[in-house]
Amino acid sequence: MFAKIIIDQDAKALDREFEYSIPKDLDVKVGMRVIVPFGSRSLQGFVVDISENCSFDEAKVKPILRTVEDFACLKKEMLALMFYMADKLHLKLASVLRLFLPSEMRTDKIKELVVRMCSLSDNFVMPSARAKKQLEIVSYLQERGQVEFSELSNKFGYAPLSALVKGGTVKIWMQQHNRTPEFDVIEKQERKLTPLQQRAVDTITENKTYLLHGVTGSGKTEVYMNLIERALSKGKSAIMLVPEISLTPQVLASFRSRFGEQVALIHSGLSAGERFDEWKRIFFGEAKVVVGARSAIFSPIENVGIIIIDEEHEQSYVSETNPRYDTHDIALFRRAYNNCTLVLGSATPSIESYAKAIDGEYQLVEMPVRVNGMEMPKIVVVDMLMEMRQGNNKIFSIPLIYELKNIIEEKKQAMIFINRRGFSSFQRCRQCGYVAKCSDCDVSLVYHVYENRLKCHYCGKRFKALDVCPSCGSRDIKQGAVGTERVVEELKSLFPGVPIFRMDNDTTSRKNGHRTILNEFRNAKPGILVGTQMIAKGHDFEDVLLVGIVDADQSLYQSDYRSIERTFQLITQVSGRAGRSAKQGRVILQTYSPKHFVYRFATNYDYKGFFKKEANLRKVTNFPPYARILRILFSHEDEKVVANECKMCYNEVKKIKEQYPDDFVYLDVMKAPLNKIKNKFRYQIMMRFKLEKADEIEKKVFLTVDPKAKSSVFFEVNPNNLS
Ligand code: ADP
Ligand code: ZN
Ligand code: ZN
Repeated sequence: MFAKIIIDQDAKALDREFEYSIPKDLDVKVGMRVIVPFGSRSLQGFVVDISENCSFDEAKVKPILRTVEDFACLKKEMLALMFYMADKLHLKLASVLRLFLPSEMRTDKIKELVVRMCSLSDNFVMPSARAKKQLEIVSYLQERGQVEFSELSNKFGYAPLSALVKGGTVKIWMQQHNRTPEFDVIEKQERKLTPLQQRAVDTITENKTYLLHGVTGSGKTEVYMNLIERALSKGKSAIMLVPEISLTPQVLASFRSRFGEQVALIHSGLSAGERFDEWKRIFFGEAKVVVGARSAIFSPIENVGIIIIDEEHEQSYVSETNPRYDTHDIALFRRAYNNCTLVLGSATPSIESYAKAIDGEYQLVEMPVRVNGMEMPKIVVVDMLMEMRQGNNKIFSIPLIYELKNIIEEKKQAMIFINRRGFSSFQRCRQCGYVAKCSDCDVSLVYHVYENRLKCHYCGKRFKALDVCPSCGSRDIKQGAVGTERVVEELKSLFPGVPIFRMDNDTTSRKNGHRTILNEFRNAKPGILVGTQMIAKGHDFEDVLLVGIVDADQSLYQSDYRSIERTFQLITQVSGRAGRSAKQGRVILQTYSPKHFVYRFATNYDYKGFFKKEANLRKVTNFPPYARILRILFSHEDEKVVANECKMCYNEVKKIKEQYPDDFVYLDVMKAPLNKIKNKFRYQIMMRFKLEKADEIEKKVFLTVDPKAKSSVFFEVNPNNLS
């Protein structure tokens, strides 16, 4: 027999199947990890196929040396997924495989946690009455059956215990222990579903993809849990994805209290050991519900009955680094493979998903009101230019300070949201609000501090940085963003003695950092939580009655085609944290462009109106989801090499463009906005083409460019981040 094997090395030259023979005495199955001779080395590989014959001279085929485990660590579905991803996303097989197994397992670094257990032997003899301690140990064991060695020796001393072991009265064996991730414990709550929730649960029954559009506080989590319960009762399993899981310990706790030990957690905050142990519990079928961040979509769980992606619009579902993938694609694959239900839930669905729902590709289910009938928080737009004209140059507007004072007097809570992203930002006139835009692309320009230049991240065009506003002639040009730290300082001086918490990448890097901050904030009344997007997500604090958005425009003038969509989502999500229980909440939204259409739709919670406007804009300007963007990023230490190579590939792509003159909307080659990262120079080819033949064109481009590129190339479809 012969096996086709993928070598576990992330190298282009090895990115194919290699054939080996299977020794007679070796039990090799598809999906197993094996060690094979490769040149002068022995390397790890994965068996992807077994057949009777081989395509080479049989005499020359080398044999597999050994198997690593006695089971197939890659199940059939995962192998199918591997081939699908490699083909569709232009990834190397070995790099895909790495997503499926805990890295600790692949590199054999992690040791299983094994403890020594003690129990009485079958025909043990009672120790003599003089050996008091030994008698105590025996009766302790009689009562309890099995006890850890360390516990016994701590309690009764090492000497009497080892005497009992030597004499054969007590036997020792090794038991494997699972490390379980920490989570908050809350009581199991059984709730009667509201009519809207019930309707959602009754509708989501078929093996299709559903888009659950429910406003913030409409009780989507409860719907998810009911759906999962139903899957479990049919003997099936479930995958529940949440964005950046450690941010929402509450959600975790409620899943754990509802489904107990059946829940496994997979997220980046786990230690290597915890991650490995959870993976094993899933692999061997102990855990039937996987809750986790995007990587949990690769869990080796079988017989999947339902997959849920909560907050489906979140960017964190896209892996921006190699191997690049969008969790939606993987979920759709697994849905089809398992012939099961997929639910995408959000208060602000992505334009892409909602467009599919409208086209009938997804089934739309709506929950337009909050669980308790609470009104959505009132969003007040504050014109910061006006504030400035009236002499207030501070971070906070008069209305926001006024509302904060009220909150503090009433001993309630507030959240202050400040969105700070990336190293660069736009330039804006402080007098009239003018923001520089590209003359060709209608996106705002990004200010590059080091070069003191404005650049378009789409077409690469460069512009002089502003020193005088072209619109009003003022020299009062501002750049750079106010950060969370500044906001905290300001609040402290305004409200001495009030507990103020900060939640951002800096304060949450410790293990359980989020949980600690959120738990402290929960008990602080009055209290103010300042944070980045992290505070916008899923949190449910009943005493938060005020949300302040310091600078709503910050996400609006990012230079990618999703910036308006993202702004709408952020406002809706962060506003959704206010007034979730007994009293209507209030949101103060500070902006320099109060007339922008996004604010009109957001303040009215008019998702549908917003969708219509934004979708139409994208349609007429040929942007996704009505067109496809493909960026090919080249990087290399030698700038000449990468520039030449990129140019050469660009010329090849130009030839493809000539074959599809009606499909290409845009094609150009340029330095990447971040021209040099970690001493590697970066160049890119950007293209945009219509959807009709998009797959065909994409494939052609890939097959043309990939073999020609010696530097590292990175293919990105509809990238979020253009740096
Ligand atoms: P969403 O995710 O849609 O924003 P959540 O799932 O966080 O909303 O639910 C909002 C709040 O309503 C939570 O505090 C939740 O415990 C509560 N809740 C959900 N369903 C019910 C119900 N059927 N009865 C009472 N309270 C509910
Ligand atoms: Zn441009
Ligand atoms: Zn101006």
